[in-house]
Amino acid sequence: MAIRVGVFGAAGRMGSLVCRTVAGDPDLELVAGIDTLHEGIDLRTVTGADVRGLQVAATPDALVEARAEVAIDFTHVDAARRNLAWCADHGLHAVVGTTGFVAEDYEDLRGRFTSSNCFVAPNFAIGAVLMMRFSEMAARYFESAEIIELHHDQKVDSPSGTAMLTAERMAAASSDWSADPTQKLVVEGSRGGAAAGGIHIHSVRLRGLVAHQEVLLGTTGQSLSIRHDSYDRSSFMPGVLLAVKSVAGRPGLTIGLDALLDI
Ligand code: NAP
Repeated sequence: MAIRVGVFGAAGRMGSLVCRTVAGDPDLELVAGIDTLHEGIDLRTVTGADVRGLQVAATPDALVEARAEVAIDFTHVDAARRNLAWCADHGLHAVVGTTGFVAEDYEDLRGRFTSSNCFVAPNFAIGAVLMMRFSEMAARYFESAEIIELHHDQKVDSPSGTAMLTAERMAAASSDWSADPTQKLVVEGSRGGAAAGGIHIHSVRLRGLVAHQEVLLGTTGQSLSIRHDSYDRSSFMPGVLLAVKSVAGRPGLTIGLDALLDI
């Protein structure tokens, strides 16, 4: 039996591609699409997904009516917090790609998802997952590190969830980072923002980009650059499908695609 899937943010850049991807997978059935400003419009017209007779809904109640088992959320963090609380209250599994969550959000989700499960990944691209893993492995061999994340010019949160998670994992792998030598800031913010371990993150927003990140590590006489580029949103889809098919078997909250991969 196909897994019945609903999508929050169905009209968005990610959500519409997710709808097309779910509709094209024989193991899944797209049963609802929710998006605030597109209520009543044919879901196929909005997303290009190969479905008939479905209209975009404005509220999550459509998920109950459609007997959805899994809800996918690619919206904005404030909306995602509300959507996920609703999913937990109504016993739906959730797969979340929305970024901008902080540690308190994860604690909140852990407490809420008791009768259904929640899978959150700030990055569903396998290459990005490997980039984080390699950065974590390299961390203890270098004294300084900076992260440059680069995204399209419509991204509303900064730094990216991937950059934040990368810094957290590198800081957990090593606490031996040299101090920032800067004594005079000529332009406010020119050193980026200090994340976990004091690792600086620089956010670039540029039309034409999708999602990119370079981790720079330095030690005496050498440096290492670890870079990942998502040139197309299709790079995220295999990870999203894997999460949708796995979430029912992972009790509570799971964070990061690594948990589903043998790395
Ligand atoms: P987007 O094009 O702005 O799409 C977001 C959509 O969500 C919009 O259509 C928006 O509708 C809708 N929305 C807002 N509030 C809603 C609600 N309460 N219920 C249902 N729909 C709602 O953004 P995007 O580029 O697709 O990105 C979406 C999120 O995915 C971002 O957080 C981004 O960082 C993240 N992302 C994650 C990954 C990953 O691998 N994890 C990859 C790419 C992007 P209106 O605009 O009409 O209000």
